[in-house]
Amino acid sequence: MKAVITFHSIDSSKSVLAFSPALFEKLLDGLARSNIPVMPLEELLQSATTHGVALTFDDGMRSVYSEALPIIRDRNIKAHLFLATDTVRDGNRGRKKASAFPGFEMLNWDELGKLQDCGFQIDAHTCSHPDLRQLSDQEVVGEFERCDEIITDRLGRTPHYFAYPFGFVDSRLEMLAGRRYRACFTTKLTYLNRSERLSALPRLDSFYLQHGKFAEEIFSTATRSYLRARGILRWGRGLIWNKTHA
Ligand SMILES: [Zn+2]
Repeated sequence: MKAVITFHSIDSSKSVLAFSPALFEKLLDGLARSNIPVMPLEELLQSATTHGVALTFDDGMRSVYSEALPIIRDRNIKAHLFLATDTVRDGNRGRKKASAFPGFEMLNWDELGKLQDCGFQIDAHTCSHPDLRQLSDQEVVGEFERCDEIITDRLGRTPHYFAYPFGFVDSRLEMLAGRRYRACFTTKLTYLNRSERLSALPRLDSFYLQHGKFAEEIFSTATRSYLRARGILRWGRGLIWNKTHA
């Protein structure tokens, strides 16, 4: 089995975007105990790879550097950070836009460089973290281009992977993002399987791995059943949300 896991902040607060450092260690220990390798996306997405997990962190919270990095470095594993570039603590615009995530301190470029040096790949999550469905084609592509340019300019590496802000996606966005990036990620709550399109791959949100033994046994029958039920509920809520906000 294969899965991509989404994290935002690694901290002990009660925020829906937080996953505690202790539980993060338990999750990685559980993977090691079950002989499930943690690998970068390019390796996980190869068809020859049948078993594994990739770790992804969305947005650019500073706790990825202060809390997650020491844990990851100790285990010598690699991860991805989907960065919304306007949130970076660098210059006036960065400070202002960081309020998109109230209560969270955001990364600066120095910390992002250190993350990259320690095996993180910094990938794309737009500049301003908008609901891309509300933007014109030109505005959407502008978000991709500016985000990629800023990351390339600052860190010397062009992003290959992309995560849709809020997981909001439709067929038009899939077409626009799918022809730019090697793979694009949603918030659809399922494991990876062969039928998924590269322009809209699912991920397991760590929010749903916080209870019981789910974090320690992410591929167990109990965890799979739980996530399937939660995924159906979320899908139902998404339909209602789309109808009321169309
Ligand atoms: Zn995000």
